[in-house]
Amino acid sequence: MVTVPVDRHPALARVRRLLLRSPRVVHAARSLYRWPPLTRTRAFRAFVFARVEAAERALPTVVPRVAIETALTCNARCVMCVHSERKLVGIMDRDLFARLVDELAAWGVREVCLSIYGEPLVDRHWLERVQRVRAAGLSYSFFSNASLLRDEIAQQMLALGGWSEVNFSVNGLSQAVYERVMPPLRHARTYDNLQRFLARKQAAGGGPRVTISCVAMRENLHELDAFERFWSSQRGVDRVSIGNRTDWMGQLRRTDAGQPVEHRLRVVDDSVWHTPCPTPWSSMFVYHDGRVSPCCEDAAQRQLVLGDATQQSLRDIFHGEGYRALREQHRADRRCAHGTCGSCHANWPWV
Ligand code: SF4
Repeated sequence: MVTVPVDRHPALARVRRLLLRSPRVVHAARSLYRWPPLTRTRAFRAFVFARVEAAERALPTVVPRVAIETALTCNARCVMCVHSERKLVGIMDRDLFARLVDELAAWGVREVCLSIYGEPLVDRHWLERVQRVRAAGLSYSFFSNASLLRDEIAQQMLALGGWSEVNFSVNGLSQAVYERVMPPLRHARTYDNLQRFLARKQAAGGGPRVTISCVAMRENLHELDAFERFWSSQRGVDRVSIGNRTDWMGQLRRTDAGQPVEHRLRVVDDSVWHTPCPTPWSSMFVYHDGRVSPCCEDAAQRQLVLGDATQQSLRDIFHGEGYRALREQHRADRRCAHGTCGSCHANWPWV
């Protein structure tokens, strides 16, 4: 099977960017990829296994996507997140962080995501970390709820450059919905922060690519269209993303089961082929304590640990026994025999 490397074709890349701007197109594409009749076809299986083999051949030269959890702690208790049900805290040691950043730069990683399952702006050393990333010549992205995005911080980050992308998680348009879904955050404060930041980005004539994201759930379903219209019309917003929920591999007790948004779970059920997963060939997620996982699907329970960055280099972990064994299991279509991947119901696309 021949696949087209979209990023090398500017026209195709432009079309893809335009399509990805529409939450409806993205939702339809995801649904199609998980559509049981499609996943049962020989063509679909052949496509997936061709991609697996291509990823395996490319491995010696691959530079993975890396996310570092500078902070697990969060100042919100969003109802669709395990932070609302269990205490999850931790801040990465600054020396470990500095060593990881230097390693990434030496490895040829050009960009790093600075969050996984917490709010990075709760960290009082946040700006120092950004400076460290920039001094190593890397650019960076992160996810944030924007409630702590003070103007001084935003200004300093814009001045440092290299801020390539940010995903602001804003799960309600009206005050009532926002504050019901994301307690104890205040709607007025977050919306003020975001609008001041977007104005500053416009005034600077550039800045990070901005995604405003929202998880669809019963509390906000009635205002999703208005949410999309509002944020799409804001200058400086590049994309609005309406995501599907997950139960974080059974770690979240409240799941909206039986509610009208049930079909928007982002995981597949047991009737769908659980495909080999692309993340062991492409990604590293370094938790705040140095443990390394290939994905964030397991971020609430943290059983899928393939290495310890306090003991080994990231490169050694990526090419080491833990990653190798997991890839072999997926490659042989034995994902369901794996303790964690077998109970994971995410089918991340190979496109
Ligand atoms: S199958 Fe699930 S748990 Fe396993 S690597 Fe993929 S996303 Fe992570």
